[in-house]
Amino acid sequence: MQPACPVCGLDFSNSDTGDAGAVLLIMGLGAVIVIMAFWVEFHFSPPLWVHAVLWPIVTIPLAILIMRPMKAALVGAQFRRRPHEMGL
Ligand SMILES: [Zn+2]
Repeated sequence: MQPACPVCGLDFSNSDTGDAGAVLLIMGLGAVIVIMAFWVEFHFSPPLWVHAVLWPIVTIPLAILIMRPMKAALVGAQFRRRPHEMGL
């Protein structure tokens, strides 16, 4: 993470979102992927190896893509709801 916002200069050193981004991502994306896996299984009944190949290809890039916006949203939520924790 950058030390400060390049636009407004907000110091990120006091921002602590912990593992919330990863936890929310695991639960949210995990649920979506499981639902999609069931849908593919019931509609196409592919062999098991298709699932083993398909879902990592879908899941890993999505997790990497979503992690930064998720973290940014949590920093934004902390800025909006608990600015005193960020020294403001
Ligand atoms: Zn900013």
